[in-house]
Amino acid sequence: MSATLISDVTVLTMDEQRSVVPHAAVLIEDDTLAYVGPAEGCPAAEGVVRLDGRGMLALPGLVNAHTHVPQILLRGAPSQGRRLQDWLNNVLSPGLAAFSPQDLEVATLLYCVEAVRSGMTTVVVNEDAGGADYLGVADRVLGSLRQSGLRVRYARMIRDLVDDRVLAASGSRDLERMRERTWAGRHDSARALAEFDELVRRHHGSGNGRVEVWPAPATTVTTTLETFAAAQRLAAERGTSWTIHLAETPIEQELHGRSPVDLLDSHGLLDGALLAAHCVHLDDQDLSTMAARGVRVATQPSSNAYLGAGVAPVPAMLRHGLTVGIGTDDANANDSVNLFVEMRMLALLQQAVNQDPAVIPPGRVLEMATSAGARAIGAGDLIGSLEVGKRADLVLLDLGGVRTTPVHDVVTSLVFQAGGAEVDTVIVDGRVLMRDRVLTFLTAQEERALCRDAQQRSERIVTRAGLTW
Ligand code: FE
Repeated sequence: MSATLISDVTVLTMDEQRSVVPHAAVLIEDDTLAYVGPAEGCPAAEGVVRLDGRGMLALPGLVNAHTHVPQILLRGAPSQGRRLQDWLNNVLSPGLAAFSPQDLEVATLLYCVEAVRSGMTTVVVNEDAGGADYLGVADRVLGSLRQSGLRVRYARMIRDLVDDRVLAASGSRDLERMRERTWAGRHDSARALAEFDELVRRHHGSGNGRVEVWPAPATTVTTTLETFAAAQRLAAERGTSWTIHLAETPIEQELHGRSPVDLLDSHGLLDGALLAAHCVHLDDQDLSTMAARGVRVATQPSSNAYLGAGVAPVPAMLRHGLTVGIGTDDANANDSVNLFVEMRMLALLQQAVNQDPAVIPPGRVLEMATSAGARAIGAGDLIGSLEVGKRADLVLLDLGGVRTTPVHDVVTSLVFQAGGAEVDTVIVDGRVLMRDRVLTFLTAQEERALCRDAQQRSERIVTRAGLTW
């Protein structure tokens, strides 16, 4: 058994009382929290690795409840200034189609570096191979994710429907070419579901159980209801969650002539294992239905602002009792991989659009990135708070820097002042991924080389895909 003792640290547990324990000790045995509490009560442990926590704040690792990873090489200029369908069809699809297998690995590692450096420990990764060899893409992406040590929920997106009205919304002048490309990128649902079995066989439970595989029908305008039903069944059979994109823009409502929540519910396709991302264009009736079915939500404030999609009704979601987590969404519709950025963005956007500076207390925002985020992804019993018996996923923050000075209420400072650079140490599953801001899965030299390589690869992808801006 391996053991690590973090001594003399202040712990913000994010348990139900949001308890703060000063001068605390945290004992980690293998992948599990064995003790969290006052130093004097900590059991004596011989042969432990000691981490000095003096001056540090221990916080549960942040949970990214909805993201897409390799597209990080498409961020910056090509993606900016576009609406969802324009961005999807004119940047994302052709861009991803121009990736080489090595590009996927480099992109994923780049993503992991930014994620770990900003205190993220769990990511719900939604991946779509754009018609390419899906299992090969998953092998590459998951290989790099495992190398980083992050906890992963790998959601296999399925799109098996092409609707001209959705393509037209992209604003492209060459609809014929777009139709061809979209058909080529569309998944044959029978094959996708067969591949899902193989994906599960290869990766589910890998990395000491850190990797779970979920089915993910994309949206109600790009995926058939039959495939939604198949995904729901697969998740139920395996006891996992499943996840979708829901009401990111008004196009679903426009095309169906009814709310997509109403549509899904009328087919029995809303349940307590479902994680619905975005949920921007929903009304009280929709939220009430979702709450009644136990659907959980991942909200993406930066991405929704980036693509001009809108601001999700998060205060109403909370009023309805929905469990809400926060996601960064695509690394190229944001353009950062940083939940501190998301917390601040979420709080400020809601305060602005609701014209109410107290509309969501900072404590609720921090919960969405930790404890509520963990519950939103169906992992509330495993992670999200620093309590004995849970997995040892935590970060140590140094709040002594200029940006987080002064601190009067640590929760408020984490939401409004912190930017991610305060994260000093990251531990996932009891393994140290970063200490003193030095990564353990890449050397400093390798990290610099990775950034140079990623820049060059991105330039070549942009050229190959013919992306303009
Ligand atoms: Fe998404």
